[in-house]
Amino acid sequence: MNKSVRSTIIAGNWKMNMTPSAAKAAVAETAALVAGKTGCEVVLCVPFVDIAAAVEAAKGTNVKIGAQNVHFEAKGAFTGEIAADMLLECGVEYVIIGHSERRQYFGETDETVNKRTKAALAAGLKVILCLGEVLGERQSGITEEIVSMQTKLDLAGISAEDMKNVIIAYEPVWAIGTGLTATPEQAEEVCAIIRGVIAKLYDEKVAQATTIQYGGSMNDGNAAELLAKENVDGGLIGGASLVPAKFAKIVDAAQA
Ligand code: PEP
Repeated sequence: MNKSVRSTIIAGNWKMNMTPSAAKAAVAETAALVAGKTGCEVVLCVPFVDIAAAVEAAKGTNVKIGAQNVHFEAKGAFTGEIAADMLLECGVEYVIIGHSERRQYFGETDETVNKRTKAALAAGLKVILCLGEVLGERQSGITEEIVSMQTKLDLAGISAEDMKNVIIAYEPVWAIGTGLTATPEQAEEVCAIIRGVIAKLYDEKVAQATTIQYGGSMNDGNAAELLAKENVDGGLIGGASLVPAKFAKIVDAAQA
């Protein structure tokens, strides 16, 4: 089995950028640039308030819309939170869970990442589950232990069937928004480690079918060599996804 058995997914993470009117224009511009590019799935994960405008602008195009978080409870007294069925009804197909900015600044833990993932999958969303080591962990030589532990804890209790709707985004925290990119070899090494953990948790078939993206300062200049690696099945892109022309070039790099 090889790369051809799994989807390549290029996903943008707009983070806290773009008003609804700006989102409408950016989705339309992106959609025009990636039209007919069938070599990968194209997703834009937008702020909650942009979802309606983004979904409308993406209608009839090959751009799919994602959210950047979801709460684990179905409803109730959770002021400021958004439930999975709310996202679905708005036309959202994907949701990012466990992004390092949520882990760093908003107290997200492997336990809450796991709960959110289960809630999202139960509702019918596809999950882009983010994990990765911080700089000190890499420098201490414990990257393998950290990503293995995160993979196990974040996927605890998730069935092989549900894994069809889970995408893993390996995002070394030291590479996010810093301009520092993992080398293709570093990205390949860790994506392969994660695939190995999935094989142990499930089986080789599930592991080979799981899309594992790399994220961390991926851009139009470095995407091709990262995406060429056997175990790198796409990218989660922050900064460069805000500029449609740059994002579209990354989509182009994924067509090979
Ligand atoms: C991200 O937000 O997931 C990310 C990878 O950001 P950037 O591409 O800006 O490093």
